[in-house]
Amino acid sequence: MKMPKEIRTYCKYCNKHTTHTVKLASKSPPRSLAIGTRKHERKLKGHGGKRAGKVPVKKQGKRQVVMLSCVECKKKTPRTIGTRTRKKLEIIAK
Ligand SMILES: [Zn+2]
Repeated sequence: MKMPKEIRTYCKYCNKHTTHTVKLASKSPPRSLAIGTRKHERKLKGHGGKRAGKVPVKKQGKRQVVMLSCVECKKKTPRTIGTRTRKKLEIIAK
């Protein structure tokens, strides 16, 4: 899948169409002190195997997410592109 480097789309903060720069969204690592992470680690302690986070069915492909940042107000908004795909998203210069 290909995506241009800059697109003109609606910005909810400016309330109008503006130019946005497109970047691949990267997922941040889980915070080790968050309540959910601590709860999960407590569950994993001792015997009894894995409790949560086990995926029974592996899905083919991922939904590609890009981060759009407005040129005028510099605010960022995530956008999901298309459906599940095995192809990686390419950002091409135009
Ligand atoms: Zn804006």
